[in-house]
Amino acid sequence: MGPGHPERPERLRAIERGLDQTRFAPLTRMSAPLAESEALQRVHPQSYLAALEQAAPREGYSALDCDTLMCPKTIEAVWRAAGGAISAVDEVMSGRADNAFVAARPPGHHAGAHNPMGFCFVNNVAVAARHAQAAHGAERVAIVDFDVHHGNGTQEIFWADETVLFCSTHQAPFYPGTGGRNETGAHGNVVNAPLLAGSTGDAFKEAMADRILPRLRDFAPDLILISAGFDAHERDPLGGLRLREVDFYDATKRLMDIADKRCGGRIVSMLEGGYDVDALSRCVNSHVLALLGVQEAGA
Ligand SMILES: [Zn+2]
Repeated sequence: MGPGHPERPERLRAIERGLDQTRFAPLTRMSAPLAESEALQRVHPQSYLAALEQAAPREGYSALDCDTLMCPKTIEAVWRAAGGAISAVDEVMSGRADNAFVAARPPGHHAGAHNPMGFCFVNNVAVAARHAQAAHGAERVAIVDFDVHHGNGTQEIFWADETVLFCSTHQAPFYPGTGGRNETGAHGNVVNAPLLAGSTGDAFKEAMADRILPRLRDFAPDLILISAGFDAHERDPLGGLRLREVDFYDATKRLMDIADKRCGGRIVSMLEGGYDVDALSRCVNSHVLALLGVQEAGA
């Protein structure tokens, strides 16, 4: 994204260092393949994907909006981030993996079907949901987004689709300005639980317990996808919420409980935001420990 940009390569390096610890030795690790264009086209029109490729510079940077930039390698990264999400869905839906976390960038939840936005180009979680339906016969897919920013792109893509439940906790009022409680989707399939700036883990837990988890249980999804942004952490330079590692651990366990009861434990989580690299690494460790079924001290 260019010098000084918060969505930077160090984010993934910090996550990789964290997951190098011996307690993560049981993880099966796979590299992310490039997404097939057929899979991307379930969400984005070919004309948009071609325009993205056209927009990539041969050298230096090109800006698609004031904070979404491309370098010559961006397209490969975008295709791999979506490819990782697709491959994780394949592993989990086929039963080869119990669940999966996709550590990839750029993030995706602000990207609409026709537009890049907010560091996002292709909506990875939307591509994953459509792939689960088209390639694995999933009838209902639930997406839970706990990034500090509202997943406006994901909401827009599935607004009128009763086969996908989109649930989000996020800071509001805040970027990108959407995500009010009154935004409920064409079929009541959107659930927004906005949190005021300064909210702590208690408010987050309550929003999950009161608004999101009951809807998730009732929806009885065949797969739960997580838009796992960790920029609601108290140390994040962009977000204004005050969550701690244990809050992400706890939320992950609650989602796993529902997944165990409703869909054979099937969860695919993918990285969205998180811009304090040390906090990001610790949050991912907690999230992945929960997914691994490890009891964390203090949780
Ligand atoms: Zn975010």
